[in-house]
Amino acid sequence: MTDTQKIKDWKNHLVKQDEIDRYLVNGKDFIDDDAIEAEIAANKVTTEEELHAILDKAKDINLMPSKDVAKLVNITDPKMRNEIYEAACQIKKQVYDNRLVTFAPLYCGSKCVNRCKYCGFRTDNDEVERRVLTMDEIKAEAKVLAGKIGHKRLVMVYGEHPETDAQYIADSMRAVYSVKVPTKNGFGQIRRVNINAAPLPIDDLKILKEAGIGTFQVFQETYHKKTYKEVHPAGTLKGNYAWRLYALHRSMDAGIDDVAVGALFGLYDWKFEVMGLVAHAADLEKRYGIGPHSVSVPRLEPAEGTDFSWVKHWVSDEDFKHLVAVLRVAIPYAGLIVTNREKPEMLDSIIDMITQRDADSRLGIGAYADAFPENTITSDGHQESQRQQFVLGDMRSLDTVVQESIKRGHIVSFCTAGYRCGRTGTKIMSLLKAGKEGHFCKMNAILTLQEYLDDFASPETQKMGNALISKELGEIKNRTLDFSQAQLVELKKARKRIQNGERDIYF
Ligand code: SAM
Ligand code: SF4
Repeated sequence: MTDTQKIKDWKNHLVKQDEIDRYLVNGKDFIDDDAIEAEIAANKVTTEEELHAILDKAKDINLMPSKDVAKLVNITDPKMRNEIYEAACQIKKQVYDNRLVTFAPLYCGSKCVNRCKYCGFRTDNDEVERRVLTMDEIKAEAKVLAGKIGHKRLVMVYGEHPETDAQYIADSMRAVYSVKVPTKNGFGQIRRVNINAAPLPIDDLKILKEAGIGTFQVFQETYHKKTYKEVHPAGTLKGNYAWRLYALHRSMDAGIDDVAVGALFGLYDWKFEVMGLVAHAADLEKRYGIGPHSVSVPRLEPAEGTDFSWVKHWVSDEDFKHLVAVLRVAIPYAGLIVTNREKPEMLDSIIDMITQRDADSRLGIGAYADAFPENTITSDGHQESQRQQFVLGDMRSLDTVVQESIKRGHIVSFCTAGYRCGRTGTKIMSLLKAGKEGHFCKMNAILTLQEYLDDFASPETQKMGNALISKELGEIKNRTLDFSQAQLVELKKARKRIQNGERDIYF
């Protein structure tokens, strides 16, 4: 069989129409473009009191009614926007305390059969080199990430192509989990792998579940159907809006109950996309009793060989900060992920509202190992820009990010305990809503930060981090309603064990 025939055959078997139809209600999906536009047009906040009432309700940590979300997206008054920002920071603290989880992306393949107008990996872009990492190359990447940089958590990213099908994704996850590298005082290991890939049928998703997937992320890109059609040509796999819209429903049905939504901001009006994300969360809640584990808010970035003159909805920095605040209060239980697509100043201005960011990221295929030649299997010396999907805004090192976060009083957490202890799906949702998830997470954040400090941090970061941990232990001692004295004793014992070189201790 020729390559073209192979691709055609694979495409024909991938999309299962009955795995779309079963979710439709009276033949319709849950996004009604006209109804959303009408709701945005009809709802405005008129008084300060009305705004306060909406924000007070958000503190109950329930999904916000769409009418109220419409009211918030329409606000332009800087003072009112600032009140939403303040509420967003407070809700972040209420649900997630002062933790900031960090991770790195690992791009496994740049081959893709789709032609998304905005993406450097689209099949008709000749300016990007095509490559799919071998399992040895993936292990080399993991070795650098876990042994040199200090990450514990990855999101692995794939183009949509038969060479990176579900079996490849599962094998690549297993390859990453198999790597264990000696470090200064212990060992490094990637302990949680999240997946950002194209929609899959239920049977394929079960293969990922079996391989130990953390969260399954699929971004709808745009919820606006007309725009979706314009940027994802008909006849391509990605051109099927409904197949993508129900990707996470299928994931739930395959037993993967940590799912993540996202929209690519800049393709259409950001207000519409915020409403779409909330509608997506509402439909997941309605059917499965739980909403998304996290929400991602990528903004469109320039990409090699890609024309952007058609873009009409670039999101300004002010609007971006506002939409992050609105999402924080509208889906208050969900993690909020912002990536290094953003510049340092933007990341710093929203950091108190978000729960996860990446650090020290490289988007080139094989780029981590290339940066540390002793790990290189096939160094080709090509420029990064030819191998990556888009251009990064923040290139600060993980050590700098950890240090700057500590200065702001944030514990950078490398915790991966949640899914390994079964704290996923409905279990994690009820803990989050009750503001109780923080107990385990706080303790695990302290222990994983200690591991990072002892294995990878610069002397200055180490000093500042140890001071922060001592302060946190002092605070835990006084939070007698939240933490028992026995828990504090256990935590201190575990910290000592880590300082003595033991690794991967969690509650
Ligand atoms: N191929 C899979 C898919 O499309 O779902 C997963 C990987 S794709 C590389 C991951 C995400 O990158 C996409 O969902 C899209 O939101 C984002 N992306 C693509 N092009 C981008 C660009 N120019 N700027 C920012 N983000 C982009
Ligand atoms: Fe392929 Fe994903 Fe890029 Fe679209 S966004 S071209 S599906 S890698």
